[in-house]
Amino acid sequence: FSYPLPANEPVLNYGPGSAEKKRLKEVLALLKKEKADIPMYIGGKEVRTNKTQSIHPPHEIKHTLGHFHIGTEKHVQQAIDAALAAKDSWAAMSWEDRAGIFLKAADLIATKYRPYMNGTTMLGQSKNAYQAEIDAACEIVDFLRFNVHYLSEIYKQQPISGPGMHNRLEFRPLEGFVLAVTPFNFTAIGGNLPTSAAMCGNTVVWKPANTQVYSAQMFMRILQEAGLPDGVINLIYVDGPTLGKICFAHRDFTGVHFTGSTGVFNNMWETIGKNMGNYKTYPRIVGETGGKDFVVAHPSAKADVVATALLRGAFEFQGQKCSAASRAYIPSNLAEEVKKKLVAGIKSFKMGTVEDFTNFINAVIDEKSFDKIAAYIDNAKKDKKAEIWAGGKYDKSKGYFIQPTVIEAKDPKYVTMCEEIFGPVLTVYVYPEKKFEEVLELVDTTSPYALTGSIISTDRNAIALATDKLRNAAGNFYVNDKPTGAVVGQQPFGGARASGTNDKAGSILNLYRWLSPRTIKETF
Ligand code: GLU
Repeated sequence: FSYPLPANEPVLNYGPGSAEKKRLKEVLALLKKEKADIPMYIGGKEVRTNKTQSIHPPHEIKHTLGHFHIGTEKHVQQAIDAALAAKDSWAAMSWEDRAGIFLKAADLIATKYRPYMNGTTMLGQSKNAYQAEIDAACEIVDFLRFNVHYLSEIYKQQPISGPGMHNRLEFRPLEGFVLAVTPFNFTAIGGNLPTSAAMCGNTVVWKPANTQVYSAQMFMRILQEAGLPDGVINLIYVDGPTLGKICFAHRDFTGVHFTGSTGVFNNMWETIGKNMGNYKTYPRIVGETGGKDFVVAHPSAKADVVATALLRGAFEFQGQKCSAASRAYIPSNLAEEVKKKLVAGIKSFKMGTVEDFTNFINAVIDEKSFDKIAAYIDNAKKDKKAEIWAGGKYDKSKGYFIQPTVIEAKDPKYVTMCEEIFGPVLTVYVYPEKKFEEVLELVDTTSPYALTGSIISTDRNAIALATDKLRNAAGNFYVNDKPTGAVVGQQPFGGARASGTNDKAGSILNLYRWLSPRTIKETF
């Protein structure tokens, strides 16, 4: 049985006077009034503790949206127990029945709960309506529908049989529980990481970032309404060390599906390595981590194409995408024009709360991020090797607002050309226009990451050269486009080097990691 390739969920536009906008505004008002009391979900039950943490919109820190209950080691253990208890019946359920649950969840989001998924993402993560729509409505729905299709394609793949012999592959789930750890920046990643493993017949312990809990619990409730059996996905809120201590020491730990920082992922590998002798099976370690994503412009490029790729690639969602353009290489012949366009673009951006739909820039996620980003900007202001082209202001009195900032680096290895900042900061290096080939070498060797990157050029030879020379510098390579905005089913997403295991979210390749095939040969 095969599920046909779905179409991508259409993006609604929330324009002035639209019914979608009106409905979303109503839901935002409701959510702001509600004061949510958010439990963990273990074995299908709501679990509350005596320790809570309050949730505030990053753009309006004096307002409280509610609070969530924080778990301890005991809750991690309970979540693992619940996952293991649910495992056999979940794996025994027919694949078509499992698929029905995820397809129903996708439909519930696309119709009934769309404004709730968008609303919690807008308020909890400070995403504007468009950024929320492409994430918490469209991408999450696409992940669910496309993964059902891809998995049905995998299940069909069978070896050849012959006279006197019948061969088959049984696509078993992994033996044990899978851990999903998800970041704040995409609600859809929170949707994808636990469900892609679960769809394959695994049971899951899911820990979202504290700054994602508000939208994560909304998704969990939708999964329950769609009929997800108790214990298949267990949602807990604990700190990383507590989670790691219990999960990575457990004999039945069988894999981790992670998106987050390179440092945390490295620690996971180390801890898992140290525990290797304790596990029943080699765990699958799948991670998408940091990025220092580049845009390289060829002297033949059109300045407005370069500027648009940079303004959108670097500053949408305050640059808090692993894929965000954060270092640009501009040839000297285009520098002045591109600079003018960047300065004008940044001037035109409105910054403020998500409730005013005309704001393009909202707040960065929390105080820790704010302080880290502000320190990079301050250092650049003082450093002779850098010059601020645009932006550079920040203010955390009402929310964590940082003006989109462009730094020109006089040295191509200047710190903000190399390190991931995860905020609205773009660093530009102007290179002599005759040195395009040398610049490609710089692009390849300046950062340890290899997630996304773009070449902007009207010269086909230059495009071919960059595509070849930067073969290992990005897992997602864009020609004449920004390096962000991968769409499920269209641009499978992920990178190698310090950016992760390149297991391509939103593609058939990812799903193989959550299956452990058994070959069965029968002779007659
Ligand atoms: N898939 C997203 C994009 O293409 C980025 C995901 C991330 O930031 O982890 O922009």
